[in-house]
Amino acid sequence: MSLSVSQLTKSFPTAEGVLPIITDCSFRLDKGQSLSVAGPSGSGKSTLLNIIGTLEPADSGTIMLDFENVLTLPAAKLPEFRRHKIGFVFQDHHLLPQCTVLENVLMPFLAEGRISDEQRQKAVYLLERTGLKERLNHRPAEISGGERQRAAIARAFVYEPELLLADEPTGNLDRKTAGEVFDLLLELTAGKMLLLVTHDPVLAAKTSKQGHIGNGVFQVNSE
Ligand code: ADP
Ligand code: MG
Repeated sequence: MSLSVSQLTKSFPTAEGVLPIITDCSFRLDKGQSLSVAGPSGSGKSTLLNIIGTLEPADSGTIMLDFENVLTLPAAKLPEFRRHKIGFVFQDHHLLPQCTVLENVLMPFLAEGRISDEQRQKAVYLLERTGLKERLNHRPAEISGGERQRAAIARAFVYEPELLLADEPTGNLDRKTAGEVFDLLLELTAGKMLLLVTHDPVLAAKTSKQGHIGNGVFQVNSE
């Protein structure tokens, strides 16, 4: 299991012409590794994660995840591929406000049909692991910011993705809560792959590799 990104480039068309965002990006992440991404605002961190997560097309390059180039997957296969292989956690939890915590975590299963008892048990188990056992029937507005982020993390893990992408997952949290949520992400992705954006050098130091993007170039410290 590995993620291998080669010569990835991305630009956006604007009224003033083509705006290059990523011009040089190659790196590798192996099973059990975590990589933090830092860089100034607007440098392309979210764009990079969105491309790897198949939410956005690239201009050129390859992204191999488990011997499959995600950039050439047919559009019709993308939703299922994403659901099963990749987990997403964003800065804003993206929980549905009208649904309970448990219902939110069950949502990826619902996308594929009726929910089985086994799937319900899985969701409850993940909510126990993320410390939300006593909050299953709360709605997002009735829990704290850290709890919402933990619910979003539980939801990202229902299909046990090999790769978790997290875009500033602790950006809206206070320092202590941020540290706890960060540690939870590392714990749940042990033996898998974690790629996450963070501006906090103390948190970034906890990942196995540190990367930086600036002026279109993404570089990993150890490569
Ligand atoms: P970061 O996450 O590092 O703050 P982003 O990846 O969100 O940066 O954005 C990188 C740059 O790409 C920004 O300058 C942004 O304005 C530009 N950008 C992002 N999405 C689009 C888009 N859909 N069309 C045009 N420009 C975009
Ligand atoms: Mg961003």
